[in-house]
Amino acid sequence: MLQFVDLRQETPVKRNTDKRKGDFKEIYKDYITNKATEQSSRCSQCGVPFCQIHCPLGNNIPDWLKLTAEGRLKEAYEVSQSTNNMPEVCGRICPQDRLCEGNCVIEQSGHGTVTIGSIEKYITDTAWDKGWVKPFKVKKELKQSVGIIGAGPAGMACAEELRKSGYQVTIYDRYDRPGGLLIYGIPNFKLEKFVVERRTNLLKETGIKFVQNFEVGKDNTLYELKEKHDAILISTGVYKAREINIPGHNLKNIFPAMEFLTASNKKGLGDKVKLFDDGTLNAEGKNVVVIGGGDTAMDCVRTSVRQKAKSVKCLYRRDRENMPGSAREVGNAIEEGVDFVWLTSPKTFIGSSKVDAVEVNKMKLGEPDSSGRRRPEIDVGSEYKIPADLVIKSLGFDPENLPKLFNAEELVVSQWGTIKIDLKSMQTNIDGVFAAGDIVRGASLVVWAIRDGRDAATQIEKYLQKKVEVKKSVEAA
Ligand SMILES: Cc1cc2nc3c(=O)[nH]c(=O)nc-3n(C[C@H](O)[C@H](O)[C@H](O)COP(=O)(O)OP(=O)(O)OC[C@H]3O[C@@H](n4cnc5c(N)ncnc54)[C@H](O)[C@@H]3O)c2cc1C
Ligand code: SF4
Repeated sequence: MLQFVDLRQETPVKRNTDKRKGDFKEIYKDYITNKATEQSSRCSQCGVPFCQIHCPLGNNIPDWLKLTAEGRLKEAYEVSQSTNNMPEVCGRICPQDRLCEGNCVIEQSGHGTVTIGSIEKYITDTAWDKGWVKPFKVKKELKQSVGIIGAGPAGMACAEELRKSGYQVTIYDRYDRPGGLLIYGIPNFKLEKFVVERRTNLLKETGIKFVQNFEVGKDNTLYELKEKHDAILISTGVYKAREINIPGHNLKNIFPAMEFLTASNKKGLGDKVKLFDDGTLNAEGKNVVVIGGGDTAMDCVRTSVRQKAKSVKCLYRRDRENMPGSAREVGNAIEEGVDFVWLTSPKTFIGSSKVDAVEVNKMKLGEPDSSGRRRPEIDVGSEYKIPADLVIKSLGFDPENLPKLFNAEELVVSQWGTIKIDLKSMQTNIDGVFAAGDIVRGASLVVWAIRDGRDAATQIEKYLQKKVEVKKSVEAA
């Protein structure tokens, strides 16, 4: 260990830009074994591991780095999977620069962070290849059952932890495949779908039941589902796209980001998608304009490049330094030829029935707003037009109106529509109904959804144990 003084940082090699633009495969090559070993040995094993503190899962990073450096990969995998239900997913898509790696002590001392995410991916991918990842065996089956609404990372992490304890777990999801945004939101070039599918298949082998194409609110109300189970977890994520209410917003060929990305992901999975197959949601040969500066916008521009768009422009009302998206993903998009039009905001969508162009305002940055970022202001008289055949709106997501949708008007939500929970018990105001993930936090990260799912499992287990104790004492009385 402590090799950071002599060994420089090396990330896994990125695929050649021209090649990666031609397909949807992940862009980073795998670490070869001696590179993973070597890079792990750069860890300084510091007394207070800030990487671990800043990982939402509290992963024992220094321990699995040491084991990897010593070639004890199976043990490294055991330690890594003990705190994370999907280490290979987090290793691929966590914004490490803001979490573990951003707080690595050797990064702070100017040596370049240990490449924690890539090593985490390497360890677990190796474990899958070597057959070390096996479905766990339930030691004692329990009678109590839990219904989970939403098969995203929060729901799946909670399901796995509860099943380990022996509970009967059913996950209901309105999509035809499990995975939530891992399967239909995040594109293949960040997370190939076989990675998600092998995880969900593993969960099925442990006895967790998945009920797909089941929408709570349509196929059952919340209370109908509650009748079937001893506890419920709501982990439905946030899906209501924020709108841009400017003139021309009803023109054809203007789509929310998730519609565009879901179509692309479904095509990648071999599905028929009417609006893609008839060309509507296919960017090929089109001038594409994506509005927004977050990670979803980056996924849309890079998907458009791979669909062979004629041009791809990303409009963002602030400058590069003030973009909310991961700097790494912005860099990847620039390498792939995306044209960023900073300090620009849409004013009008122009066209007769379909959009032909976006009239935009140039912006300038004023004083900082409540978020601490400088407020964008219109530079009066600066309007100009950008040609557009396809416009993709990526301005963020809000929760759907769950109390109405679930026919449970008394379910308490915040002013933003996210579900309010007791932060200790993770229970909503309805007895036995818990909530976790984006539907509580608002749009966030996979690693936080996993953390919330694990915490919810602990709290649900406590609730169910108490229920059993109460029943026993009533029977004894
Ligand atoms: C395009 C995109 C890219 C992203 N990229 C990254 C990234 O690179 N790194 C990162 O860490 N995070 C990323 N995120 C964020 C991350 O995907 C989410 O924070 C995370 O998936 C939230 O997990 P969740 O389980 O709370 O919800 P979700 O993953 O949204 O899962 C919710 C599930 O609930 C189901 N559901 C909803 N309503 C109902 C209902 N009424 N009945 C039944 N089922 C229902 C949905 O079908 C879905 O399967 C990205 C998000 C998007 C949109
Ligand atoms: S889960 Fe994410 S934050 Fe935690 S160690 Fe892995 S990559 Fe870093």
